Amino acid sequence: MKNLLFLSLACSLLLSRQSISADGGLMADSKKVSAVEYLYADVSDANTILATIDSGLRSTYQGKDRAAWEQFYRKKRAELANELERLPTSGLSGGDTKAIAAMRKQMKAFAGGEALFIPAANCQDAARKDIAYPALKSALVACFVEIGNSLSFEGGKINRVSALDLLHETSDAGRRKAVFFAFVPLWHAIDGNNEPDSPYRRMIAGAAAEAAKNGSEIDNAARDVGKDPAEVERWLVQILDAWRESSGDAMIEPWDFRFRAGEADRLLGTYIPRESLQPTNQRYYRDLGANLEQMGTLYDLSPRPEKAALAYTEFVTHGRMVNGVWRPTVARVSAPYERGGLFILNELVHENGHVVNITAIRNRPAFVDWPSNLFAEAFADVPSWSIYEPVWQRRYLGHEAPEQLSLRALYSVVVLDVAWSLFELRMFRAPLTDPNALWTEITSRYLHIVPHPELSWWAVRVQLADLPGYMVNYGLGAILTAEMRQHISEALGAFDAGDSRWYGWLCEYLLRYGSERDTHTLMQNFLGRPVSPQALLEQIHRLKPVTLPATGDHSTDSAGHSIFLSPEYPIGFSQLSSHRPQSFGPV
Ligand SMILES: [Zn+2]
Repeated sequence: MKNLLFLSLACSLLLSRQSISADGGLMADSKKVSAVEYLYADVSDANTILATIDSGLRSTYQGKDRAAWEQFYRKKRAELANELERLPTSGLSGGDTKAIAAMRKQMKAFAGGEALFIPAANCQDAARKDIAYPALKSALVACFVEIGNSLSFEGGKINRVSALDLLHETSDAGRRKAVFFAFVPLWHAIDGNNEPDSPYRRMIAGAAAEAAKNGSEIDNAARDVGKDPAEVERWLVQILDAWRESSGDAMIEPWDFRFRAGEADRLLGTYIPRESLQPTNQRYYRDLGANLEQMGTLYDLSPRPEKAALAYTEFVTHGRMVNGVWRPTVARVSAPYERGGLFILNELVHENGHVVNITAIRNRPAFVDWPSNLFAEAFADVPSWSIYEPVWQRRYLGHEAPEQLSLRALYSVVVLDVAWSLFELRMFRAPLTDPNALWTEITSRYLHIVPHPELSWWAVRVQLADLPGYMVNYGLGAILTAEMRQHISEALGAFDAGDSRWYGWLCEYLLRYGSERDTHTLMQNFLGRPVSPQALLEQIHRLKPVTLPATGDHSTDSAGHSIFLSPEYPIGFSQLSSHRPQSFGPV
């Protein structure tokens, strides 16, 4: 305990921008490598600054406009490519050699000003049979922007995130079904009529061909837990089985799944108006020892028609040592929030989990970058799962939902991610599979959802098109999230209602390495043993088996099913109307 407190304090000092010595692995061993590494840091910053400008958030950064940044980027990137070529190939330290390899690899991913999740493509091109895999993928992402940002519902427009939230909160069965079917144009754009050469089915064939050459996200995630994809598949099935056992036998319609599990969303929604999202989020992180306001993070949380169709977090600038002082990382969060509510707040706290992950990195420039996708997504949920704990709700909302309802709300979202993970894993393995049939098989068997093989209702996640295979980082990531939450609670104590040592302690033990450590080693060292699904299985088993009433029988719910009875969502449609952005045009 003493050591633990000491280390926590040391990391806090780092975080408070105190001057620290230049050694300790934050600088290159060779002067030549150091110069190239700082050039790399400049190029890397210019790359993410261009993405910041192209996101539509602002037109200048540090007084320079887009043209100036692009010129700087091109010039410096060319210099960097030259300098990397000229570095000696022998006689360097192990650390320098590894840093050079990391810079070469990461440089390939620099987009140089291509806006994230806003492709320069048109959705209608997805129907063309003559376009290649990368262009088809971009066209499908464009569909999420063009159609997903503007779903027609009750004479107005809502975006995809709001529609998913409304599926939790809308008590009227007819309206809920209408929200679900607002997705039809999106499903159609992504998967046509689910014919064998539908846009998605052509795209996944391309993704699988690419993966056969270079590996997939699923292969990467399996490697990150030191397992093979077959073992990952077994774990995913185990998690789904645990949910199946805890959710009764009654079959429910897909438009009722989120609602049935979303009682906590409805009980608490009224206490989480749109304008409270950010203050609540900031207060929680302040209690965890991370002052988001002082970190200078750029927040872009309101919807715009041309904006990325999903919430994401990215670097603006990368932290580095400057004259012996740590200059902190600046992060940016983009999200299209029209509404408040528990589901949305969970997502905002998740995004800020990414923020504290990257701001805690203390390493040489080559490694001030994202850890693996699996680790990043898993860690972001470490703080965000707390909002489903009654003790968190009591402190930050002043009201709480019963534990069983809160847990069901959380794990229903988690198992959907696990279902998508299994879906993608099996699509990659057999890309000629009928996706509707596969999704129906998974969701009817494990989630007790009424089969609707005529609907491509799986096609609501941008990741399915943007980075096929990515969903495993959430589904398998949940296993790591539960492991980390359990280990932190055992080593440091409960943190659901805050613990000011949390951020410093995690910086020291988990986050400071950035992209230097592979996730397998990082998790093994953190836990002191290999990752296993046990912690998540235990969490899901906290859910007591319930008997669900069958769908469409709301008026006859008995007292025994009272956990699923809900008063009409108190600010349901009126809130939707008042938060509808003007920019989406006439209602
Ligand atoms: Zn994330």
